[in-house]
Amino acid sequence: MSKKQFKTESKKLLDLMIHSIYTHREIFLRELISNASDAIDKRYYAAMQRGETGVDRTAFEIRLEPNKDERTLTITDNGCGMSAEELETNLGTIAKSGTQAFRAEHENAEDIDIIGKFGVGFYAAFMVAKKVTVYSHKEGEPAAVWESEGQDGYTVKPCEYEPIGTKIVLTLKDDDEEESYAEFLETYRLKSLVKKYSDYVRYPIRMQVEHSRKKEDSDEYETVVEDETLNSQVPLWRKNKSEITKEEYAQFYKDAFHDYEDPASVLHVNAEGMLSYTALLFIPKNAPFDFNTKDYKRGLKLYANGVMIMEHCEELLPEYFNFVQGLVDSPDLSLNISREMLQHDRQLSAIANNLKKKILSELLRMQREEREAYEAFFKAFGRTLKFGVYDKFGVNKDFLKDTLLFWSRKEDKPITLKEYVDAMPEAQKHIYYASGDTLAQVKKLPQAECVADKGYDILCLTEDVDEFALRVLETYQEKTFRSVSDPDLDLSTDEEKQEMEKRAEAEKQLLERVKNALGDQVQEVKLTDRLKNAAACLSGAEGMSVEMYKVLRSMPNGANLPMVFTLELNPEHPVYEKLSALDDDALKQYAELLLAQAKLVAGLPLDDPAAFAEAVCRLM
Ligand code: ADP
Repeated sequence: MSKKQFKTESKKLLDLMIHSIYTHREIFLRELISNASDAIDKRYYAAMQRGETGVDRTAFEIRLEPNKDERTLTITDNGCGMSAEELETNLGTIAKSGTQAFRAEHENAEDIDIIGKFGVGFYAAFMVAKKVTVYSHKEGEPAAVWESEGQDGYTVKPCEYEPIGTKIVLTLKDDDEEESYAEFLETYRLKSLVKKYSDYVRYPIRMQVEHSRKKEDSDEYETVVEDETLNSQVPLWRKNKSEITKEEYAQFYKDAFHDYEDPASVLHVNAEGMLSYTALLFIPKNAPFDFNTKDYKRGLKLYANGVMIMEHCEELLPEYFNFVQGLVDSPDLSLNISREMLQHDRQLSAIANNLKKKILSELLRMQREEREAYEAFFKAFGRTLKFGVYDKFGVNKDFLKDTLLFWSRKEDKPITLKEYVDAMPEAQKHIYYASGDTLAQVKKLPQAECVADKGYDILCLTEDVDEFALRVLETYQEKTFRSVSDPDLDLSTDEEKQEMEKRAEAEKQLLERVKNALGDQVQEVKLTDRLKNAAACLSGAEGMSVEMYKVLRSMPNGANLPMVFTLELNPEHPVYEKLSALDDDALKQYAELLLAQAKLVAGLPLDDPAAFAEAVCRLM
C-alpha cells in the first residue's frame, strides 16, 4: 500500500511537533488522554441516544502501558473507535481547532511556545515518538491501522483488532546526548504527568504498577504487579472552589473547549436549595473560528451527577450569550432526559434564568474593573450583544443595554451609554449618533460638525446592526437617540428655526427647480442649517436613514429598494448663491454634482461614476 501525504497545514504543524523544544513535550500525554476520554464520551452518548440504558459505565477505561524492551508507550481506550475512513480524515488532516491555534500564532511570530500553551491534539504524539501506530475498531466496521513515521506520510490498512476502541502505540524517539525520551517509560514520570494534566478526566486512567510487598507470614518481600488508577476522576467543578487555581481553570477550559488561550473570565456557581446545581462558565477571549457560521453549536454541556447527558444544551443559554462556554451539573436531572422534555423542563429554565443574570453581572463587573479586557471582549462578541438588543422586537433590550459600547467621537474610545449620558451638557436633549462604513468616514461626516460644535458627543456607528439596535432601544435614561442625519436635529433655538423657515419660504422656487432637475433621484430638496463647510448632504426620509437604507439594500432582493433621500443644501455656502442665477441646463448640472458629492460623502455608490467625473472636468 502506498504512502499518503499529509495536507500542507498538517505538515507544518507536524514539523513543529517533531522539532519542538524539550520542555513542552510532556503534554503529548494530556492530548492523547483527552482524545481518549472524548472518544469514550462519544461511545457512551451514542449508546444512550440509541436508548440502551444498560451501558456499564464502570467498564470504560484508559490504559497506559510502557514497555522498556520495545521502547513503546501504548495508550488504549474503549471509546467509539474510528473506521478506516475516519482514521484517514481525522489523522491525515489536523483538527480544525489545532489549525486555528497554529494559524493565529504563526501569522506574526516564529513562536514555538504554541506547543506549551495550546492544545495541539493528536499530532503532539510526534513530539516524543518516531513512529505512531493507531489500531482502531469502530462498532459495525472492520478494524484498521494507521501508521506514520512523521513527515514522509502515513498508511491506513485493514487489521485484526478485536476490542471496540483505539490503541495508540508510540515508538519513542532515540535518546541523544541532550535529551532522554526513555523517561516517558518510567512509572513515576507517567504517574506525575497524569496527576498534573489529567487528574479530573472522568474515566479511570489505569496502569500496571510494580509494588514490593511483604510476603504473608514471612519477612521477605516480593514484587507484585497491580493495576493502579492514576487519576482522582473528580471533575474540576466538583472540587472546592478555594482549592482550584486560576491555572487549573484555564487548563480545564482549554482542554474541554478546545481554545488555545486562557478565558477572559471564569464563573463558578454552586447553587443549593430548591434547585441544586453547579455551573462552570467561561467567557472566551476570542471568537472560535466557526463562531459566525451555521456550524457553531451554542449551549452548555449538561451533566446529571457528573455524567454528561448533552453536549450542547441550548436551553441553558440565551442566544445573545451564545459565546459563553461551560457546563451545568445537577443531581436533580434524570439521565435519560430527552430533548423534547428538556425544552419544557422547569428546572432547566430556572437554572438558565439564574445563569443569564450571573453572566450579565460578570460582564458588567469586567466592564467596571477590567476595562481593557472588556473592550477586547466586546470587540470579539459585541455584535452578538447588539443583535440581542435588536432581536425579538427588543424584549431583552433593557437587560442588555448596559453591556453595549460605542465609539465616542469626543473621547476617541469606546464608551457605554451611561458614560455618554453622564457626560451630557445640561442643554443637550438627545443622544446623537452618526453612522458610516468606517470610523474615519463617520468622524468626517459633514452633518456631525454642527452637533460637535455645540460641545455634544456623537456615538460613531460602523456596524450594520448598530443603528437598528439603537432604534429598538428608543431611549436611554429617557434620552432619545437621534442621528446627526435626522431632518430634525433639535439643535437650533426657536428663533433660529423661524429664521430658517422664513428663508425656505423665500427660496421655495429655487428649491423646487432643483428638485425638478433631479427628478426621482431625491424625494425632497430643502435648506439646512446643520452644515458648516459642506455645500450639501443627504439625509433619509420616511423614517429610514441613509445607513439603514444601505443595510437593507445589501440584503437579498434589496437592490430594488427605492431611494428615499432628502438632499439638504447649505444656504450659507458660496455655491448656493450661484444657483439662482443659473439657467435650467446649468442648474441641472450643478444639482447633479451636488447630489453626487453628497452620495459619495455618505458612502453611497454613484449610478454613473463616469458621468460624474466628466461633469467635474467640464467645470474645471
Ligand atoms: P481534536 O481533538 O482537537 O479534534 P485531534 O488532532 O486530537 O484534534 O484529533 C482529531 C480527531 O481524531 C478527533 O476529533 C477525533 O474525532 C479523532 N480521534 C483522535 N483520537 C481518538 C481516539 N482515541 N478515539 C477516537 N477518535 C479519536
